[in-house]
Amino acid sequence: MGDIVIAYRIEIKGLVQGVGFRPFIYRIALHNNILGWVENNNEGVSVHAEGTELQIDGFIQDINCKAPLAASISSLIKAKVKSEHFTDFSIKKSASYSQTITEVSPDIAVCDDCLHDLLTQHHRLGYSFVNCTNCGPRFTIIQALPYDRHQTTMQPFEMCAVCKGEYENILDRRFHAQPIACNHCGPVYSIAKGDLLYNTEEIPAFIASEIQAGKIIALKGMGGYHFMCDAENEQAVITLRNRKQREKKPFAVMCKNLQTVEKRFEVSEQEKKSLVSWRRPIVLLRNKKPFAASVSMQLNTTGILLPSMPMHYQIFDFLTTDAIVFTSGNVTDEPVCIDDSIALNELSNIADIVVTYNREIHNRVDDSVMMIVNKKERMLRRSKGFVPTPIPSILNTEGIFAAGAELTNTFALGKGSQVIFSQHIGDLKNAETMEFYEESVDRFSTLFRFQNQFVACDLHPDYLSSNYARSLGLPTLEIQHHHAHIASCMAEHGLSEKVIGFAFDGTGYGDDGTIWGGEVFVCDFAGYERKFHFDPVPLPGGDQVTKYPWRTALSYLYKYFNELVLYTELPFLASIEKKEIVLLTQMIDAKMNCPLSSGAGRLFDAVAALTGICTTSSYHAESPMQLESIIASDCKGKYLYHIENKIIVFYKMFHQIVNDIQNNTPVSIISAKFHNTLIALILDLSKNIRKETNINKVVLSGGTFQNRYLLGLTEQLLMIEGFEVYSHEKVPSNDGGIALGQMAIASAFRQSATSTGFYGR
Ligand code: ZN
Ligand code: ZN
Ligand code: FE
Repeated sequence: MGDIVIAYRIEIKGLVQGVGFRPFIYRIALHNNILGWVENNNEGVSVHAEGTELQIDGFIQDINCKAPLAASISSLIKAKVKSEHFTDFSIKKSASYSQTITEVSPDIAVCDDCLHDLLTQHHRLGYSFVNCTNCGPRFTIIQALPYDRHQTTMQPFEMCAVCKGEYENILDRRFHAQPIACNHCGPVYSIAKGDLLYNTEEIPAFIASEIQAGKIIALKGMGGYHFMCDAENEQAVITLRNRKQREKKPFAVMCKNLQTVEKRFEVSEQEKKSLVSWRRPIVLLRNKKPFAASVSMQLNTTGILLPSMPMHYQIFDFLTTDAIVFTSGNVTDEPVCIDDSIALNELSNIADIVVTYNREIHNRVDDSVMMIVNKKERMLRRSKGFVPTPIPSILNTEGIFAAGAELTNTFALGKGSQVIFSQHIGDLKNAETMEFYEESVDRFSTLFRFQNQFVACDLHPDYLSSNYARSLGLPTLEIQHHHAHIASCMAEHGLSEKVIGFAFDGTGYGDDGTIWGGEVFVCDFAGYERKFHFDPVPLPGGDQVTKYPWRTALSYLYKYFNELVLYTELPFLASIEKKEIVLLTQMIDAKMNCPLSSGAGRLFDAVAALTGICTTSSYHAESPMQLESIIASDCKGKYLYHIENKIIVFYKMFHQIVNDIQNNTPVSIISAKFHNTLIALILDLSKNIRKETNINKVVLSGGTFQNRYLLGLTEQLLMIEGFEVYSHEKVPSNDGGIALGQMAIASAFRQSATSTGFYGR
């Protein structure tokens, strides 16, 4: 009985294309004596399997247990079909027969086997584009689905006979590896010096010697160019800063290996795991023995990543330094460069040497950035290695386009129960970035066969993403910024019930026309109640204040102190002319260009300025980062605040801080007490709202929760108080995660629109 041949059709969905899944199926089919075929299609992978009950059981078990590293199976459905009496097992040519899609693999760091081949395989000796079914470029080179070589930027490279042999040999690790290449047939690096281009087999050695000599290199990477220089060479790092016009924003550093990382940083097991994962993100680590001072500019953390492309390893082989600055290769504020002629013409003004290669990057991606807090990965920038892996949704998102915010923009497309997130796009106010945004929306729509039916965007009247969304001429839902923040975190965790939401960030358009950003909501996807919010202060000069935190500090003091003389004596105003101070107070009195803001980011600005930590800011979120960096973590003290008619008033805190400053209290203590005040406030208000509403779920979102101290302690203390706490892991808590919240709110709205047609407060 057991040897009766039966047949099954097996449909596998998930991340199963471009990750060596078909060859994997082929091999386990042979191993289990299964006959039939496997094919890629738009919906995933289909298998026709014939064998005995026992063989098929073993086969399916192997599919689930032995799948390739980068694969992830979201569903496996099997149905009995008629046996067609196959005599072998084959990989069928890709079919393209449906409008639904499967996943596209993110790019995968080079695997150990390939690094070994680079030293041993005669046709790949020193070959910098070595890859196999387990590693190599994916999303960055893909132009259309299904994932086949002719639909990638590998198309112009014709396989040589040897590669073709491997590509067609089922027992080879490169069987059906679409970007397969070798020294004879694949892409090559070249070095450009001025107008002169030349090839050399000694490129890694040359790059290494130039880095060692203190030069700046622009190197074409997987998803765009990078600038590199010796992280131990202060002069080189300063030169890069000057030429890139990047005054103080910290640089990421690529370390040779984990040993280097362990020597220089405090690194936990989880941090190590994230660093070595095939996604190769930048991980924020606490400094132990820092590199050149200008790398992290007084911050106590550095963004660290490990090599991911063969070329990175090859360069380190020749270097004596074991850490190189590794930062996006772009012209100030523009998206990371992927265009070789721009690299040669413009990046060459910053770099001494431009190293390029002759394969096109189709999809631009920056490096992803994350931090580990309370042993969990927290995405800060979701790009290379993660995009375009979808995020599952509990709501039907089909046909919804979420336009995102304006700073650190990402957008999202809804496909059924999945949300396809774009890579990090950047600040849309830059014209080139806006162009990148529109181009990426088009590319994603084509690649994933997305039919736009419904649009979600930020309520802001002037966000470029909102204007773009409104111009599409489709039904559009405008969503309050901080509601989208909380909804984003809810969606990430599959919550749809009412929650207590703390949305703390720099700025977002409030539904009363003022700037919000210190918001305490009770909300679900359908709407929000603004339970409490930070005391609004006038921002003299509007947006200007983000560059000049001292102005916000002045505004708080003007609000909370009566006598001008009291605070004009404070050290942080010593370098500001009295005239200017008086002028600003007059502006505030006249309500002239002084929009009101309840933003948490502005509160951090004010405290950072007041304590002299950061009176002027040279990059986004500098003052909160500086403040966090100096916290005396053993200090348990805090300041006082009070509530006046739903408003969280910091009158007492500012008086106490001024007192501390006048008593020469160390700024590390002031910073700790300030952070502890916010944590206490979250705890108090959570308890307060729970008492009133019985809601026990607390959601934390907004850019302010990128603060490791604030997020870590708040979570721990809320849990001690019995709250269920939700914070971001998969998408950023900053505006890079907004699109997910917009998507969730729009999905819920569309589902209920026929009954209520209402969104908002
Ligand atoms: Zn490999
Ligand atoms: Zn070849
Ligand atoms: Fe925000």
